[in-house]
Amino acid sequence: MDFSLDPRTEGLRDNLLDFMDRQIHPAEPVFHEQLGQLGDRWAWDSVPVLARLRTEARKRGLWNLFLPGEHGAGLTNLQYAPLAEITGRSHLAPAVLNCAAPDTGNMEVLAMFGTAQQRKQWLEPLLDGEIRSSFAMTEPDVASSDATNIATRIERDGDHYVINGRKWWITGAMNPNARILIVMGRTDPHAERHRQQSMVLVPRDAPGLEIVRGMAVFGYDDHDHGGHAELAFHDVRVPAENLIGGEGDGFAIAQARLGPGRIHHCMRSIGLAERAIELMCARAEQRVAFGRPLAEQGVIREWIAESRVRIEQLRLLVLKTAWLMDTVGNKGAHTEIQAIKIATPATVQWILDKAIQVHGAAGLSQDFPLAAAYAGIRTLRFADGPDEVHRNALARQELRRQAAARQRVGGERPTI
Ligand SMILES: Cc1cc2nc3c(=O)[nH]c(=O)nc-3n(C[C@H](O)[C@H](O)[C@H](O)COP(=O)(O)OP(=O)(O)OC[C@H]3O[C@@H](n4cnc5c(N)ncnc54)[C@H](O)[C@@H]3O)c2cc1C
Repeated sequence: MDFSLDPRTEGLRDNLLDFMDRQIHPAEPVFHEQLGQLGDRWAWDSVPVLARLRTEARKRGLWNLFLPGEHGAGLTNLQYAPLAEITGRSHLAPAVLNCAAPDTGNMEVLAMFGTAQQRKQWLEPLLDGEIRSSFAMTEPDVASSDATNIATRIERDGDHYVINGRKWWITGAMNPNARILIVMGRTDPHAERHRQQSMVLVPRDAPGLEIVRGMAVFGYDDHDHGGHAELAFHDVRVPAENLIGGEGDGFAIAQARLGPGRIHHCMRSIGLAERAIELMCARAEQRVAFGRPLAEQGVIREWIAESRVRIEQLRLLVLKTAWLMDTVGNKGAHTEIQAIKIATPATVQWILDKAIQVHGAAGLSQDFPLAAAYAGIRTLRFADGPDEVHRNALARQELRRQAAARQRVGGERPTI
């Protein structure tokens, strides 16, 4: 087994590390200052320093790294993994490189399922970083971890579709520059369970689309990346050509969208955990309690060691998953994708919790990035499917695999 990086990834990694150190990290406070001066606090991608950094990212060839194939940088998942990890260290970096969710997943959907016209109208400006987008599936009125529950109505009316319903937690949609939404809704309530929903493109300024409010996570409204909107659709009409794929394809498209999205979140979260370990160690060395640095207390050393062990285990699992996605496809890597989606937020949450504890009350404050990071990682135990749904599906798969193995050997395997 070879753990070394190939020359292209190595080159991109050096380039990215240099860009992070010299320009992205120093720009973080400037970004927040400039955002505070804007007339609209949700219009985060109009901040001047972000535009400057994005120009530089393109010059350096650090643009659309997430997207395989002809539309993006053409990296494999295994090549992208160490780069995404580096971007996870900074709140700003994914957006600078045009590699931020939910745009990444939406670009993938348009690249895979969009018509030539849809790609021209929406994918091209997204790939150029001119506009942003949102993905609207979750609804306040139904348990949305089960995508077949999605009830927003999408009804055909001549050359149009008419949309009625409510959505919430729609990331990025408070930003006026999130010009396009991919909306999932029910086109045929009588079809087979997995063929009832479809996806349709809805411009944010479509008449009848009401931006109700921004939601907050533990009090953080995330306005620095477009917030999470509650939306109401009142007879919103869009041309029939705005349908993505065919009627009834919504569930399948949602599944296809989530594979890469989940692994990207995991890769970035590992970078975040690395930053937390750095902060934890620096604080433990510098802070003295009861006559010696915290770093000399056994319990703190235990947390530091355990954090290192857990993050190394996790990285290997994520890299194995990336390799499987590249070699046997997202479907073949399904179990591993679920495993990393279960393991990553819980592990990184544990590390952040310890890093906060080492910092004392300061760890909970606005003076360190740990509290906001903790809120963000806790979110990931819901976003793209709650832990329990993934555990359930993974267990079902494992039970099937074990039953098939028993059958192959003609009954019960001896247990030793
Ligand atoms: C910050 C944030 C950003 C988000 N961004 C988006 C976005 O951009 N677009 C979007 O569409 N959605 C988004 N979401 C919503 C997210 O995807 C949903 O919250 C998630 O899918 C769960 O749906 P729900 O909240 O309706 O939970 P429910 O479906 O009501 O589930 C509630 C709980 O029931 C339990 N449960 C459910 N099914 C099972 C099962 N099979 N076995 C055992 N227990 C189970 C779980 O504990 C689960 O947490 C976001 C959420 C957050 C917090």
